[in-house]
Amino acid sequence: MDKGAFYVGVDLGGTSMTAAVIDVRTGRVMGESKRKTRAELGALSVTDRIAKAISKSITNAGLKRQDILGIGVGVPGPIDPLTGIVVRCANLGASWDQFELGSILSEMIGLPIMIDNDVHVGAVGEFAFGAGKGLSDLIAIFVGTGVGGGIILNGKLHTGTRNSAGEVGHMIIAADVGPVCGCGERGCAEALCSRTAMEREIRASIASGQPSIISHLLEEAGRSDLSAGTIGDAYDAGDAVTIKAVSQAQYYLGLLIASCVNLIDPQAVILGGGVLERMGDAYLDPVRQAAQQHFLNKTDAAGIAILRAVLGDYSGAIGAAVLASERLSSS
Ligand SMILES: [Zn+2]
Repeated sequence: MDKGAFYVGVDLGGTSMTAAVIDVRTGRVMGESKRKTRAELGALSVTDRIAKAISKSITNAGLKRQDILGIGVGVPGPIDPLTGIVVRCANLGASWDQFELGSILSEMIGLPIMIDNDVHVGAVGEFAFGAGKGLSDLIAIFVGTGVGGGIILNGKLHTGTRNSAGEVGHMIIAADVGPVCGCGERGCAEALCSRTAMEREIRASIASGQPSIISHLLEEAGRSDLSAGTIGDAYDAGDAVTIKAVSQAQYYLGLLIASCVNLIDPQAVILGGGVLERMGDAYLDPVRQAAQQHFLNKTDAAGIAILRAVLGDYSGAIGAAVLASERLSSS
């Protein structure tokens, strides 16, 4: 078999992880392994689980370790790509503070490792083999519990001086008057257009006595947290409280996109994450309208494509493999 193109990409999440062998010439998933993260076990045990998932994915691809050129891992938090050290991973626990993931995992698996944060690798995945294929300048924005982003300029991930570029969720778009964000600031985009922001608005409306089918849907599903699925179901059913919260989030996502477009003037903005996946293209029209109204340069505004991500859960694993192929082969 032709060697020279197989890398393993790992998408490490707070509750689950995916390791996938990727042919970086085509983006094809050759084999994969998913398992629970089990963050409560601590960084070292979770790293051992990552190593096992990597090995299993290689076996599932019908390959051997020596067929693999390197590993890329997307981590949910800030990292140092040069040292392979995780700075912090709030949703995985304190044992990840300054954890030497790169060197420890490389020792376990016997292959070179590249790490970067999950949103950066997701942006690279969509750029290389997803909605942004063939483009050179784009911004990818992922909307979920939070809002993260990655910037591709001239065909390359723009990392920034401290590898922290792309934090679009913390662009302040309603200073002083907006809701408090998870980061402590007031009026960040994340506090206005994330799934968490929609949930806060929906719960506030219900608490003020407005009728909604949300409580009924949660009871039916036997859960207390408001998932993208439940929000989508209530929206489709015409629940007024949900429609109001969703419309507000769409408006602020549009403002965020407009600010990004005014700064970078990209060919496209790609939107991913649970809410977008559940609600589909219909979610995009109001977002597009709000965004285009706030472009400073309105020439060919519709030519700035605002697209839905297409790789779903695989954007992270594919992007991690692609980034590993670029960084490990040039070092
Ligand atoms: Zn913030």
